[in-house]
Amino acid sequence: SVRWGLIGASTIARQFMIDAIRAQDDGDVVAVMSSSAERAKAYAGENRIGRAVSSLDALLSSDIDAVYISTTNELHLEQGLAAIKAGKHVLCEKPLALTSADARKLVVAAKAAGIVFGTNHHLRNAGAHRAMREAIAAGRIGKPIAARVFHSVFLPENLQGWRVTRPEAGGGAVLDITVHDADTLRFVLGDDPVEVSAFTQSAGMAGSGLEDGAMCIWRFKSGVIAQSHEGFTTKFAGTGFEVHGSEGSLIAANVMTQKPVGSVLLRTANGEEELGFDREDLYTRSVRQFHAAIHGEGQPSATGEDGIWSLASAEAALQSSKTGKAVVIDPQL
Ligand code: NDP
Repeated sequence: SVRWGLIGASTIARQFMIDAIRAQDDGDVVAVMSSSAERAKAYAGENRIGRAVSSLDALLSSDIDAVYISTTNELHLEQGLAAIKAGKHVLCEKPLALTSADARKLVVAAKAAGIVFGTNHHLRNAGAHRAMREAIAAGRIGKPIAARVFHSVFLPENLQGWRVTRPEAGGGAVLDITVHDADTLRFVLGDDPVEVSAFTQSAGMAGSGLEDGAMCIWRFKSGVIAQSHEGFTTKFAGTGFEVHGSEGSLIAANVMTQKPVGSVLLRTANGEEELGFDREDLYTRSVRQFHAAIHGEGQPSATGEDGIWSLASAEAALQSSKTGKAVVIDPQL
């Protein structure tokens, strides 16, 4: 069995990851760490977790095989390095750190320690995105030309904390959502971005100089160009992901989400076809792949390198928005 320790008494763990671990044949959540002993205890009680601790040492000296890190973003580096040093497998939330240079430190340390390290980019696990990737790889839209990602949402009130108030915690829509879009574009297209140009905005929700909306234009190695829209303040916008090729278009609606929902339409000269896809919970699949990697079968759905790529992409987008110039994306891998 794989015994997990949670670093961070977070919303995402409570809403998705604890269940995803428990959904495995061999997954157990044995301990949770919060910076506050009181919150750790309350969280453990509410989520039926046996052990509540308030220090990293205590968590890492628990009888665990793996940690799931879902604290605020400025803490991932230090906590990840400590967990790697303790020989634990690490599934880390995105962004892996505040800079791609720091993310590389995590990945280098994990390699040297021979542990499994994954980035929790959930969207790679969505049946919709996997169906799109397969359709493109099978040539069903011919040569891909352009992609559009619609991922501007409304940040629920309970999450309008550090994301919109604390730059030092890695707040802002780009580190929160653009990383996912960059990763999903790479995954679906099977291609890497080389350059990005971005505008960001503060539309009234984020303070302290943070952005609550962004629009990016990406150029990929193959020549594909893409646009992506990320935001916290658009209450009534739907989400979507489109890829347009020489022989067809893939048009997915309601797929930039945490749930296995939405639809994927293939439109070609032959007409329109709804693509069927697997509706497994995204996070359950993420943990399953991670467990398999621990058992020596394959890799996590998103590796540490994928996490470096998505952060290097977001970093370049932020730099572009500041300089008004297109910025080259170089993950230095
Ligand atoms: P939360 O704000 O829920 O939790 C982050 C930290 O905030 C916790 O570790 C906790 O600290 C502290 N905290 C939580 N609730 C309280 C409270 N009531 N009072 C004081 N402190 C509190 O963050 P999210 O779950 O939204 O995000 C956590 C991480 O997961 C981020 O890195 C984010 O980017 C990522 N994420 C990824 C998603 C995905 O689908 N891949 C989706 C959502 C988030 P402590 O542990 O010390 O108690």
